Amino acid sequence: MDEKKPISRRQLLRSKLGLGLAQSIGYAMGQAHGVTKHIEKSIREPVPPSPPVPEFAVFLRPPGAVDEISFAAQCTKCNACIDACSPKTLVKLTGEFGVFGKAQGTPAIDPNLGGCTMCEDRPCATACVDEGVDILDGLLPMKMGHAFIHRSACRSSIGQECSMCLDVCPIEGVIGHDWRKIPVVNNDLCTGCGLCVHSCPVDPIAISIIPTKDRPPKPPKSVQPSQDQNGQGPSPD
Ligand code: SF4
Ligand code: SF4
Ligand code: SF4
Repeated sequence: MDEKKPISRRQLLRSKLGLGLAQSIGYAMGQAHGVTKHIEKSIREPVPPSPPVPEFAVFLRPPGAVDEISFAAQCTKCNACIDACSPKTLVKLTGEFGVFGKAQGTPAIDPNLGGCTMCEDRPCATACVDEGVDILDGLLPMKMGHAFIHRSACRSSIGQECSMCLDVCPIEGVIGHDWRKIPVVNNDLCTGCGLCVHSCPVDPIAISIIPTKDRPPKPPKSVQPSQDQNGQGPSPD
C-alpha cells in the first residue's frame, strides 16, 4: 500500500495555505511581542495620562478650514480672521452658543449674521497665515457644509410664493423646487455659505446649514492641488 508521507512543517509553510497561516502567526507573535514590550515599559515608567477624549462636534468653519480636530487643536483663538472678515459673519464660539472645550474661543460662521460671501482674496485665511497658524488653507476644498430646508416651516409649504433663498444663492442650480414648489438643495453643489439662511423671511428660519463632517487634513505642500472658489480641483489637462 502506498502510504502518503506526512507533510513536514517546512512543506506546510511553503504551501499557499501554510504561508497564509505563517503570516497570521507571525502577526500574532508580533502583537504578543509588542504587548510584552509594553508591559516591560510600563513596569519601568509611570503610566502616562490617557489622551483627551476627542470632541467630535463639528462647526461651520470659514472656507478652506482643515479637519475639525486639527482646527480646534491648532487655532490660537487670536481673532485675526474674525477681525479680517468684512461681511462680519464670523463669531467667536463661546458658552453662549453652547460651545465648551477646545472649540471654545475658535471662529465659526454664523449664517444669521449674513453668511460667507467666499471673498475672492479670502482675508480670513490671509490673517491666519499672518498669525503663523495657516489652518484656513486656501488649497483645501471650499465646501463648508450644505443647506437643509425645513420643509414644513417654508412659506411654500402653505402655498405662499417665495424664492428668496433661490434668488440669493450665488451658485446656479444649487436650489431647485419640487412639485409643491418647496426648495430642494443639491448637497453636492451647495458650499454651505449660509447666505440663504439670512435671506429666509420666516420665523423660525426654514433653513439650517449642516457643517461638513469630513473636511480633509492639510495635505503636504508638495501635493497641494489648486482649488477654485467652488472647491473644484485643477482640470485633468
Ligand atoms: S471668505 Fe470672506 S466672508 Fe467668508 S469667512 Fe472669510 S472673510 Fe468672511
Ligand atoms: S486667524 Fe487662525 S488662529 Fe487666529 S482665530 Fe482665526 S483660525 Fe484661529
Ligand atoms: S443653498 Fe446656496 S446660498 Fe444656501 S448655503 Fe448652499 S450655496 Fe449657499
